[in-house]
Amino acid sequence: MAACREKCGRSIVFVRMTETGKNLPVDPVPDEGGNVYAHPVHGRLFGHVRTAGEPLPDGWQIYMPHVRTCVVALHLNRYETGARGAPGPKTQPALFDLTSQTPSSPEPGQQEGTTP
Ligand SMILES: [Zn+2]
Repeated sequence: MAACREKCGRSIVFVRMTETGKNLPVDPVPDEGGNVYAHPVHGRLFGHVRTAGEPLPDGWQIYMPHVRTCVVALHLNRYETGARGAPGPKTQPALFDLTSQTPSSPEPGQQEGTTP
């Protein structure tokens, strides 16, 4: 069993992704709330990320990706979770309203900059 690289103090195990060959850190105790299907082969866990509606094969267990429970990783990725939680379509009209009310001298430059 390994320790978390983010130094959160928790223990983790690695699931070898059979499709990519990469090692995915997961919490060592199987968790039905996770989305990683894995089964032990010669003392190591092999598996893959569950696809929608995929049934759990016999002898396999569900693991929780450690990045979802790691307090350090969650802290580092805070801006990402905030961006996902914010409703995108609602912020864009507000931005357009703001720019229309402010003096629009830099507008041609902005359009050239955003359009490749
Ligand atoms: Zn951690």
